[in-house]
Amino acid sequence: MTYQKVIAIANQKGGVGKTTTSINLASALALQRKRVLLIDFDPQGDSGKALGYDVDAIKKNIANMMLEVIVNDECEYDSILHHDEGFDFIPTNTRLAAIESTLNNLEDKETVLKDIIAPLKKNYDYILIDCSPSLGTLTINAFACANSVIIPTQSEYLSSSSTTNLISSILKTKRDINPNLSVEGILITMTDDRTNQSRSIQKQITEKYGQHFPVFQKSIPRRVAISEASGVGQSIFTYDAKNDGALAYSTLAREVERNAKKTLKRSADTRSQS
Ligand code: ADP
Ligand code: MG
Repeated sequence: MTYQKVIAIANQKGGVGKTTTSINLASALALQRKRVLLIDFDPQGDSGKALGYDVDAIKKNIANMMLEVIVNDECEYDSILHHDEGFDFIPTNTRLAAIESTLNNLEDKETVLKDIIAPLKKNYDYILIDCSPSLGTLTINAFACANSVIIPTQSEYLSSSSTTNLISSILKTKRDINPNLSVEGILITMTDDRTNQSRSIQKQITEKYGQHFPVFQKSIPRRVAISEASGVGQSIFTYDAKNDGALAYSTLAREVERNAKKTLKRSADTRSQS
């Protein structure tokens, strides 16, 4: 039995840790023996670069798949790569930006990614989507096919209006396109070691948002090794498994696992009652 859970990792602010979280969560879940596919859905191709790929040299990617679906209503799946970190990966590059402009002229512009991943779901426990730093049509495509969204954020940005915009965009997609969408959790990233300060920030955030949205218990510490790992195409687990950043990401993966198990149990209970 696979969870077949699709999780978008999104925040329209750049540099908050979306790509880093996508790669390290994919790797952590793979280490927990889950079958994982990561889709790079940011035209900058940062996930691919951080996994050591030359994304401009790879001819088959999510942009081609989007175009095939737009033109033919179906696509080839031969762009799926397998990375040494133990998960599958669909790369992208700047061509995806051109696809976004094409999408904007279409009627079904929000559901192209959904059509692509529908036949893939049965092969994976988790499909993670590393979103671009915008709330444009690409990100809405990710929300339209996701079960949940992880919102990585640095504490200093949380109070800003961008969080409100992000949350209203998620709620609007839930209302208009995808009633199954939920917020998996707000993930505080790049916390510093002044633990009292980060605890008080955590408390403030939980007070502000916790009533409506889960906030992950464990935040991700700022560690040089985490960014160095991306520089050499590895996760923190391969680069420096003893680093407490690795512990933070495996704790996140366990929280994600717990949520998936709960959902699975709830749907089994509903089935047995009906
Ligand atoms: P986004 O995808 O939201 O733009 P990234 O994941 O690319 O953000 O992170 C932005 C920068 O911060 C990158 O250089 C990345 O290596 C670095 N970074 C992300 N998380 C951490 C962390 N926990 N510790 C240290 N550096 C980090
Ligand atoms: Mg990124």
